[in-house]
Amino acid sequence: MHRSIGIRHPRAVSLYTRELLVDGYKKGIVVTEGLIAHGRGEAFDYLLGEQTTEFAQDAIRTASAALLLANYPVISVNGNSVALCARQIVELSKITDAVVEVNLFHRSKEREIAIEKELRKKGANLVYGVGSAASSTISELQSDRRRVDPQGIYKADTVLVPLEDCDRTEALVKMGKKVIAVDLNPLSRTASAAQITIVDNVVRAIPHMISEAKRLKDTDRGVLSQILQQFSNQQNLSQSLQIIRGGPNGRSTEKQ
Ligand code: ATP
Ligand code: MG
Repeated sequence: MHRSIGIRHPRAVSLYTRELLVDGYKKGIVVTEGLIAHGRGEAFDYLLGEQTTEFAQDAIRTASAALLLANYPVISVNGNSVALCARQIVELSKITDAVVEVNLFHRSKEREIAIEKELRKKGANLVYGVGSAASSTISELQSDRRRVDPQGIYKADTVLVPLEDCDRTEALVKMGKKVIAVDLNPLSRTASAAQITIVDNVVRAIPHMISEAKRLKDTDRGVLSQILQQFSNQQNLSQSLQIIRGGPNGRSTEKQ
């Protein structure tokens, strides 16, 4: 962490997280638009008290069960998610036997390679969706996000999309896939289009998913299915929104 921030600063973690994105930008992983998108997330995180709520924890448990139940799970990554938690994404992929695929709104060969390099540096053996490997198309989409790997997202039954673009979430759902989103904004179109939305910061959500996936790994499939059946995304989103509005269990007013 930068010396000038100091661990006693009330926004220390938030400022450190910004530094990760700025470093990612300097490495060619993050684009300027990604820095702005993070700002939208930060505002919601502030209102959530910058902590994983009990409702997010519920969604995290359900998402971990969904990944473990999947026949072919894929973790789709963009620049921001790799800048913020590449190591954790790789660890989660190993625990859940999920493929990691690069999928970018602002695609360029250099950026794909920079992201792949970072993921490999953090322990990934295989990175899907880079260069000509992204040869399949999601026909409903206009942006570069339409280009997917036939051995990855195209084939997946369950896709985890940290920091997603709404149109693609909708398209993936229409293709019959189960979509797990991580989005701090419970009002976003991504949040309502996904079947499981984790309203939490990726920097907290992914490490929590690692713990849950480790805990649930040897659990009976029937029990995992029950976790999924008991979960209502719509209700979970309203509960998160209630916290943002400062409801009965809302965030502490002591926070600065
Ligand atoms: P949508 O297109 O789904 O309606 P949006 O237009 O509000 O959403 P985008 O700008 O397309 O959102 O993407 C940024 C989204 O990512 C925002 O919803 C923001 O809350 C979320 N976000 C940004 N940073 C983080 C983070 N670190 N952790 C979790 N979510 C984040
Ligand atoms: Mg959007």
